[in-house]
Formats: sequence, structure tokens, C-alpha cells
Amino acid sequence: MTQLSSCEPIQIIPTKNGDQIDYQLYKQTINRSTTTIGTKREKDEGEVVWRNALVFLILHSLALYGLWLAITGKAMWQTVLFSYIYLSGASTGVTGGAHRLWAHRAYKAKMPFRIWLMLWQTAALQNDIHEWVRDHRTHHKFTDTNADPHNSNRGFFFCHVGWLMMKKHKDVIAKGKTIDMSDVEADPVVMWQKRYYIPMVILLTFLLPTFIPVYFWKESISVSFYVCIARYVLQLNGTWCVNSAAHLWGYQPYDKSINPRENVFVSTIGYGEGWHNYHHTFPWDYKAAELGNYRMNFTTALLDFMAYLGQAYELKTVSLDMIRRRANRTGDGSWSELDKNIEKEDNKKDNNHHEDLVWGWDDRDMKEEDIKEANIFCKKQM
Ligand SMILES: [Zn+2]
Ligand SMILES: [Zn+2]
Repeated sequence: MTQLSSCEPIQIIPTKNGDQIDYQLYKQTINRSTTTIGTKREKDEGEVVWRNALVFLILHSLALYGLWLAITGKAMWQTVLFSYIYLSGASTGVTGGAHRLWAHRAYKAKMPFRIWLMLWQTAALQNDIHEWVRDHRTHHKFTDTNADPHNSNRGFFFCHVGWLMMKKHKDVIAKGKTIDMSDVEADPVVMWQKRYYIPMVILLTFLLPTFIPVYFWKESISVSFYVCIARYVLQLNGTWCVNSAAHLWGYQPYDKSINPRENVFVSTIGYGEGWHNYHHTFPWDYKAAELGNYRMNFTTALLDFMAYLGQAYELKTVSLDMIRRRANRTGDGSWSELDKNIEKEDNKKDNNHHEDLVWGWDDRDMKEEDIKEANIFCKKQM
């Protein structure tokens, strides 16, 4: 288990914006049964956006050349090391920022850390935070249905990259509009990024990482450019693997009725985002995993360090008891502490199961008992 040396767990108070939540009153009105699961056939019938397909084809071709320069020693070692560090920064801007902070509200962050995460998320060029969060909350609320932007029932290619080169399914647009975005829209850091997104992307994704190696250690500008593209495309594919591989291959210890799975490979390349069966079962846990193994969850290490510095606080995590009950009730039996005394539910395969799905902390469909039982580390110090 992760140890938070400076922070003690506290019992959380079920409030939103300082008020007591009335869960029955605010129960979300989305009728999940109005969307469908989707099939590979629908992928074949979807409308391709050829401009996007061409852009991805060119990017991947340039990236392959950049990768070849890097692994054959034609790029300077400083450039390769710098690119890896830059890739890690951009990755954590997505995993720790857009994902765990803004999409799931799994913890809170002070302004300096929010700006830091926003800048790195910009460098990752995966749409601005506002759009990223809307897509991701929709993915969690309607996982693997036609309302999910990257529905894994439409095949590996579609959920990996295909969804970005096809017109959105009408259910994605319709259901996306029902997602509460008020918290994100109230964050000035997010809205500032949205306003200046294009020039910021040009600067942080391409210009800066190309010119730093040229200026500081005299790398060739063309080599630097190709390695820069390779870094960007590698990172994109790392993120995409969470939507594809981690929805298709691995164990389902926590909920076998949903597609997301525990995938060690994706966790390793995805900075801790491959523990996906756990994450979809408990999306408001800041570790996005049951255990806080830092080697396979670098993002958790970063967030714990920022909590130590006082920049991250109210880090929510699930109690072992809650995990045990859930794993016994809905898991596939691979959870190590399976308690034989608890009667297991009869879980027939049902990819359209959504009754318990929430996009994260403060989702109005969250169960009151889950909120009461959650552990929160590092309550904000006044
Ligand atoms: Zn997912
Ligand atoms: Zn998520």
C-alpha cells in the first residue's frame, strides 16, 4: 500500500460545494438504456473523416523515421533523454491532470500545480482539458456502448485510434450533452487553456521541444524535429492503449460485467493507467489502482509527492473493506483475498451494464455509502 508519510486518512464529509448532497433529488435523469452496445459492423459503416486519417498517417510515418533516428544513434543521446523526460511530463499532464484531477475529481490541487498540469497537458496535444474531460466522463458513464466515444465493442482499431478519424456516433453527442461540466467550467485554469489552446499547442508540443536540443546541445534541427514527432506519437499510442488494450485483455477482479481490465503492460507504458477494471469500478480513487506500486504507477508517486509538498490535497481512495465486498460480489474471482463467506452475485456477461457507473467524485449517481466509506488523505490545511 502507498504510504502517505505526512498525511493521515480522515473520514470524508459528503458535501458538494459545501452543501449536503440530496442524492435522491439530484439522481441523474439519463436513461442509459436508450443507447446500444455497438458492434464491429457499425465501425465499418461509420463515416470516415479522411482529413484526420491523413494527418494520423503522416504523423505516424514521420514518427517512425524519428524513432529510427533515435534507436540507431543518429540522434544525440541528450536529445533522446530530453524527449523521454518531456514525454513523461506530458503524460503526467494527462494522467494526473486531465484524467485524475479534472475528469474524476479524485483529488484537489492548488493553483500552481493546476497550472503545471495544464501546461503539460497542453504539450500532450490530446484536445483541451474541457473537451478531454467531457469525452472521458462520457466514456465512464456509458462505457462500451454507442454513447462511449471509443466503444471497445467496435474492435481494437476503433477504440485505439479509429474513433478519432470517424464522425462521432449520434449517441456520443447526445449523451455527452448530459454530462455535468460545471466544475470544469468554473476552473479559470481550464478556461484559460481553452482560449489560447492552438498557439499554446504549437509552442509546447512542437516548437519548444524541437528548439531546446538545437539551442542547448547543437542537435540538427531536422533530427530534433523528427524525434519530437516520434515522442508525440509514442505518447499518443500510450494513452490510446488504455482505451484499447486495457479494455480487451486482462483480468476483471473487481467487476466482470464490464469490459475494462487489469493490464500490466498498459500500466507500465501508461504511467499507472492500466489498472482499468479497478479504475472503472472506482473512478474516484486518485491512485486509479488498488495498490500504490510506484514502479507501475508513476502518476500516483507524483501525486503523493505533490501532497507531501502541500500542492495536492483531499486525495480520495477506496477502503480495503469496500474493495473486498465489491470484488466478491462482482469480480471474476481473481482478486487475491476472495472471501468465500460472501455470497457472489450471479453476474451474467452484460456489456451494457451501467447501473453503478459514475464518472468520478461528485457524480450525482455516487452512492452515499461509498462516499461515507471513502478515505481522504491530506485534507486542505487552512
Ligand atoms: Zn476505460
Ligand atoms: Zn478514467
